[in-house]
Amino acid sequence: MTDSDLFATRWHAVRQRLIADQADALVLSRGSDLVYLSGYDAHALERLTAFVGAPNTDGIPTLFAPQLEVPLVTAMPDVFTISGWTDDQDPVAMVAEQIVGAQRVLVSDEMRADHLLALQSLMPDTTFVSLSASLGGLRSIKSDAEMQAIQTVGGLANQVAAQLQSGEIPLVGRSEAEIAEDITARLLAVGHETVEFCIVASGPNSASPHHHPGNRIVQAGEMVLCDFGGKHKGYCSDITRCVWTGDIPADVSATYDTLKKAQQAAVDAARPGASLGDVDAAARNVIADAGFGSQFIHRTGHGIGTEVHEQPYVTKDNTQVVEVGHAFSIEPGIYVEGKWGMRLEDIVVVVDDGAIRCSTTDHNLIAVRA
Ligand code: ZN
Ligand code: ZN
Ligand code: ZN
Repeated sequence: MTDSDLFATRWHAVRQRLIADQADALVLSRGSDLVYLSGYDAHALERLTAFVGAPNTDGIPTLFAPQLEVPLVTAMPDVFTISGWTDDQDPVAMVAEQIVGAQRVLVSDEMRADHLLALQSLMPDTTFVSLSASLGGLRSIKSDAEMQAIQTVGGLANQVAAQLQSGEIPLVGRSEAEIAEDITARLLAVGHETVEFCIVASGPNSASPHHHPGNRIVQAGEMVLCDFGGKHKGYCSDITRCVWTGDIPADVSATYDTLKKAQQAAVDAARPGASLGDVDAAARNVIADAGFGSQFIHRTGHGIGTEVHEQPYVTKDNTQVVEVGHAFSIEPGIYVEGKWGMRLEDIVVVVDDGAIRCSTTDHNLIAVRA
């Protein structure tokens, strides 16, 4: 498939969803959705870049870009028309002109407020709707090739998680920051092109879910929570494993069993037709039944693809249905302030039969002696 075919196929699929949603137009500004439909990764500056499509017409979409940035766009005349605007023109008025008469317009979540407010004031009778709120995201249903890419990159992160569990990454006596540097180097060594994040949280710091690795030196006999991921060929990995530096206390071990059961329950619940809220509930109920409900302080998971966090979100009240082609994390956690925290995370891709984990490394809390 040529790039041009790929983007034309994507627009065709998105167009069907827009028609089903009774949207008259789509306006995407810069960000991952724009890259998804046009291949163009626009500058994050104040000048407007907008991909504007009308699903009910046979015309192809138009990419409005600042004239001085047009040379950066790879032209695909079969996929979109490029319209460069100069600094003495009003690009928002050009967009309004393109979709004149549209009643319901979907806009990308990343669109700047100043651009959207200007567009709204030019089109007072039009309803503007958040793209993710109406369609559940443009990129949430992955193609077979994308699912493969997510499994591949998940397998790379999995290798580093296995190194953590085997004890080959020294922990005791090193700072969290040093360990994070080590893990980062290993993520690159196994084939990631970039590392997007690396959380190393030791002892009481592990009770802070998004802890920034710092100078704290890892001690013997404590929790080390590691949550990391990077990109390979444009797709993201994200995995969390916990290890204990020494003999695991009985209470920690028992609580971890609850966490593991909760994660498994959510993986089992992630079947086409269930709601994302059902998936969240599956994990949350196990944890609540064990008495830790108030210590599971975040959603069960997030979609993943070209961004680490994207639609769909595995949250308590999400009635959106799990579909074949979804890729999301399942990552329940239990956090006891001042003592320790634990989280167990895999990325899953959804197929006809249910969810397939992209990482298979041991799901137990491992005692390491390093
Ligand atoms: Zn997170
Ligand atoms: Zn993570
Ligand atoms: Zn995650």
